[in-house]
Amino acid sequence: MVDIVHTIEPAASGRAKCRGCGEKIAKDELRLGARLLNPFVEGELTLWFHLTCGAFKRPQPYLEAAASTTETIGNAEWLEVEARRSLEHERLPRLSGADHAPTGRARCRHCKELVEKGAWRISIVYYDEVEGRFSPSGYIHPKCAKKYFGTNDVVDRIEHFSPSLEPSELDEIRAELES
Ligand SMILES: [Zn+2]
Ligand SMILES: [Zn+2]
Repeated sequence: MVDIVHTIEPAASGRAKCRGCGEKIAKDELRLGARLLNPFVEGELTLWFHLTCGAFKRPQPYLEAAASTTETIGNAEWLEVEARRSLEHERLPRLSGADHAPTGRARCRHCKELVEKGAWRISIVYYDEVEGRFSPSGYIHPKCAKKYFGTNDVVDRIEHFSPSLEPSELDEIRAELES
């Protein structure tokens, strides 16, 4: 068994996309390289993440890389706290933003009730260890977040993965999370 070493290093180009949010990682920005042993390819595959996306969605590789890197991470303390929260609440890495339900046909993964058309919903993704990919896996009501994730302190994560939400919209979601 080979030791898989995860790294934190500046992005060599601005071409790689983050596996966590799908956006490009700017050249020279520090990024997490999470190594994956791919059964279909000889050798290792590296999945790149923004540091925040890595701490939120791939906490174990993030913490290992952060412990061994020689790079200076600007908000290292906050990222470590968030990565540890992701380990403590094992469903938290599945959170992938929020939006309005475009139809009233999908059911909440927690309570199994329909998510009303136009209501806020939190997107859930599952990580596939073999493929190294996140796949869309449904939605939950904000009011179900506390039971589903084990915490309702998730507004920072919603804001991170849905950067187009307005402060007033985040307030609406926050009120539902706490209801
Ligand atoms: Zn990202
Ligand atoms: Zn629900």
